[in-house]
Amino acid sequence: MNLILLGPPGAGKGTQAKRLTELYGIAQISTGDMLRAEVAAGSPIGREAKAVMESGALVSDDIIIRMLGARIDQPDCARGFILDGFPRTVPQAEALDGLLAAKRLRLDAVIELKVDDAALVERVAGRFTCATCGAGYHDRFQPTRVPGVCDKCGGREFTRRADDNRETVTARLDAYHRQTAPILPHYEAQGRFFSVDGMADIDEVTRQIGAVLGRLA
Ligand code: ADP
Ligand code: AMP
Repeated sequence: MNLILLGPPGAGKGTQAKRLTELYGIAQISTGDMLRAEVAAGSPIGREAKAVMESGALVSDDIIIRMLGARIDQPDCARGFILDGFPRTVPQAEALDGLLAAKRLRLDAVIELKVDDAALVERVAGRFTCATCGAGYHDRFQPTRVPGVCDKCGGREFTRRADDNRETVTARLDAYHRQTAPILPHYEAQGRFFSVDGMADIDEVTRQIGAVLGRLA
């Protein structure tokens, strides 16, 4: 099964993608996570992307499309994948159409998580991640069961993203509305496009996505 999760920063794409990887045994492909790994490694891509990411703007289509093309050839994608944070521009959506056609793959569903802008700032500002296993949390909406201890692995170190601050979120939301929202009609026209209420709580969003996927079978 090949899916796209679409939505603005903080909509819950990563949270839901992680659950879907466990439920369906398919790979999560987060271009944001891939870029952060490049930045951490100090690679040429990371050096080019760092300042752009910190400003809240989008990294160039060329870099992203090359990175994505190589990623979907990895063996863990053989059973399918969930794209989280890609595509983000019309050229990326068109490049993806070409990549999938060349590999004789198709998209089973494109799922939009709809969330009001006002809710997103709080979602992003409260986000943190276990430094050991990558589990995602939120200060208010998804705290660890025991304060300071990861539910999944017992880790005690957590990280917050450099771009998860109120100022950069505004720039990221602006990039979403100007550059990413225009791809929605591209997928609406292709069919298999679904919107779910991303304002609902995390379990309810998972249930709604499950209902969409259940109807596809
Ligand atoms: P995205 O990948 O779309 O940027 P995340 O999945 O990282 O968003 O979610 C952003 C933050 O909001 C995280 O801290 C997460 O715990 C929290 N979150 C995700 N979904 C919901 C939800 N439905 N309700 C409340 N908080 C949520
Ligand atoms: P994310 O983790 O999806 O919130 O992405 C964090 C940042 O990485 C974004 O603000 C962009 O600077 C960059 N990025 C991630 N995915 C893409 C993409 N598909 N196209 C362009 N830039 C991206």
